[in-house]
Amino acid sequence: MIITRNIKELHKVLFGKKKLKNTVGFVPTMGALHAGHLSLIKFASSENDITVVSIFVNPTQFNSKKDLKKYPRDEEKDLEKLKNINCDIVFIPEVEEMYPKDDNRIFDFQGLDNVMEGKYRNGHFNGVAQIVSTLFEIVNPDKAYFGKKDFQQVAIIKYLNENYLKDLNIEVVACDIIREEDGLAMSSRNMLLNKEQRSEASLISKTMFFYCNSYKKYSVAGLKSKIISEINSNTHLEVEYFDIVDNKTLQSVPDIIPEKTTACIAVYAGIIRLIDNFSFN
Ligand code: AMP
Repeated sequence: MIITRNIKELHKVLFGKKKLKNTVGFVPTMGALHAGHLSLIKFASSENDITVVSIFVNPTQFNSKKDLKKYPRDEEKDLEKLKNINCDIVFIPEVEEMYPKDDNRIFDFQGLDNVMEGKYRNGHFNGVAQIVSTLFEIVNPDKAYFGKKDFQQVAIIKYLNENYLKDLNIEVVACDIIREEDGLAMSSRNMLLNKEQRSEASLISKTMFFYCNSYKKYSVAGLKSKIISEINSNTHLEVEYFDIVDNKTLQSVPDIIPEKTTACIAVYAGIIRLIDNFSFN
């Protein structure tokens, strides 16, 4: 496994591989790797000759300095995990490497970024688009892999890829959510939960799945209020938003059409913010 922190060096390695007509799969991450990340990497390596993983905690997508500071980082453990699977190249740049000067690019997502995560995390998706477009330009893979856990992020990256980065000819692949045994969606932030918060956090997916699986018994408004009030009845949990949205427009829907609709939730467990979603399909 090649570890590089520098764009020039990465280009040198990739150039050699691409000359041999190797296909390149790319998995961008912010590190603190868990089985969710590893599933993306395994899938990428099953579909490509070379797998590149980036580890970079991107400051421009954090709307709170405190959140950026407390974001978990453990490079040593990450590298250990990557060595045990089929990762060929790890790119771990410093902030100065990715942002040698301020990035003032503003992306227009036609409203996809005005709802849910975008509504509560001002500027988050613009920061995501800055780093993803920079990484796509640097790595220029055949395919790039993202988790459906970040449902809105996948929609925005697909839009970015189709509307801003078309010439790169990269296929964006969305991969299934990997969960803990008790149903909690895996996340680097889970390790920041204390014992009580961690135990209650499993009720986010359990409650959402329970009611969403019997959605026919409720109106959309009834389903929303049932899920929100039940999750909020736990001592450590507070729903920031729960919405049922159209998969393409991400706007709230009046009715559930399973193949076109997803339920999305953000919940605070103490000060830790967790997200999850449920596909009715
Ligand atoms: P992050 O390091 O949180 O930026 O995540 C890097 C990639 O891993 C993103 O595409 C995430 O959607 C994906 N990811 C994170 N958690 C999971 C999970 N539990 N299951 C599948 N993919 C995930």
